[in-house]
Amino acid sequence: MGWETVIGLETHVQLRTVSKMFCGCSAAFGAQPNSNVCPVCLGLPGALPVPNEQALKLAVRAALALGGTVHEKSLFARKNYFYPDLPKGYQISQFEQPLATGGSVSYLSPDRGMVDATVVRLHVEEDAGKSLHDRFPKGTALDLNRTGVPLIEIVTGPDFRSPQEARAYLQTLKQVLEYIGVSDCDMEKGSLRVDANVSVRRKGETALGTKSEVKNINSFAYVEKALGLERDRQIALLESGGLVVQQTMLYDSKENAVRPQRSKEESHDYRYFPEPDLPPLVLGPEWIAEQQALLPELPAAKRERFVAQYVLSREHAAVLTSSRTVADYYESTVHAGADAKAAANWVMTEVLADAKEHDDRLRVPPVSLAQLIALIQGGTVSHQAAKRVFAELAAKGGDPRTVAEALGLVQVADMGVVAGWVSEVLGTHTAEVARYKNGETKLIQFFVGQVMKVSRGKADPKLVPQLLKERLG
Ligand code: ADP
Ligand code: MG
Ligand code: ZN
Repeated sequence: MGWETVIGLETHVQLRTVSKMFCGCSAAFGAQPNSNVCPVCLGLPGALPVPNEQALKLAVRAALALGGTVHEKSLFARKNYFYPDLPKGYQISQFEQPLATGGSVSYLSPDRGMVDATVVRLHVEEDAGKSLHDRFPKGTALDLNRTGVPLIEIVTGPDFRSPQEARAYLQTLKQVLEYIGVSDCDMEKGSLRVDANVSVRRKGETALGTKSEVKNINSFAYVEKALGLERDRQIALLESGGLVVQQTMLYDSKENAVRPQRSKEESHDYRYFPEPDLPPLVLGPEWIAEQQALLPELPAAKRERFVAQYVLSREHAAVLTSSRTVADYYESTVHAGADAKAAANWVMTEVLADAKEHDDRLRVPPVSLAQLIALIQGGTVSHQAAKRVFAELAAKGGDPRTVAEALGLVQVADMGVVAGWVSEVLGTHTAEVARYKNGETKLIQFFVGQVMKVSRGKADPKLVPQLLKERLG
């Protein structure tokens, strides 16, 4: 009997706010170490926390976007533990009565199609500082700029059945959170961090196996690698008669290995208790409804609308709605008059390829793309030539028609000129002309190709077969 993998994810997401969760310090990433600190986030005696309203708005929007229920009353709690990067000796989080419960994320599983992962809870908390082990040869440096930066934690049910599903869920979650603008969700920069709980069980078994928790995973690709390693480790252990012990494993991306965290560093007893410096968090129903009203169209809804409105396949609509920027770009191109299907093809190929090579910048304005598409459809430039015009527009800007003219790519629809090219081709390919006249009419494609070659792509492709047939007919 085979094994089934069970994974549940706890995802921490930094909220995009100007200031920290409970003080006025800047929450910006990359400042001079220990420059964004104050008595509140350093935990100096007597300093009192004040919740950041903007952070609460973003957290509530995230919960609503995931279909969760935001509670009118929730509680802040102290999570107590000792670690050098936690100067207060505790983290303000939520434990009992979190900000929101319930909700789901619908994602595309590589083996089960569209599936829903349940969101168990979403709560707000503050981030800890950062221990830097690579600054000084023998010591650890502390940067407390991150201490107190607003976070949400999103906890799923044990719903994933493979490392690939865990990754697909995270990418969908990132897409939703990016759409609503609550976070940039950059795993490499640490603005999205995931703790992955993994267990295995015999296929058909309904009880959950003992889990371990894998930490220190900092890219989407590592999610798959780390979880695959941990799953294999557990299966091997169980098959050799051993037992999985509940523990924290650390992923080492350099060695591509998972190892138990030294037990001294874990076995937490957080001794949660209600935060005495903060009253319960009470949010009015109108305030919550306002956040709901501020949500933009979400990726799944936009995708379905694109399918219906622009008559696109679901796969193409998914590509075009992969980010809000790309979706807006596509719609602006259509609004500027471009044919929806042609615009979709251009965005999915040239536009995204160019963006990929230029830090995701969409370098040709939608209006220019729409004009370029119109030039193709009006027969002024060939599709091939338009790609060169596009490259030039991306690099240097300008007006599509002027650029096409400057590059000598405007198609020639002048009968006399095209007829000259046709004569030239028929004159140099007498053998093929004879075969054509003997009934090999599919050679027409060959002649068209030759005329395009002789004209260096400039002959009007509608005119060429017409003139050829007249001359050969
Ligand atoms: P803990 O108390 O250890 O933090 P929780 O019940 O809060 O555990 O669950 C934390 C995360 O672990 C959730 O995402 C949950 O879905 C997942 N999880 C719980 N039990 C298992 C299990 N046996 N196998 C895999 N994931 C699990
Ligand atoms: Mg937990
Ligand atoms: Zn501060």
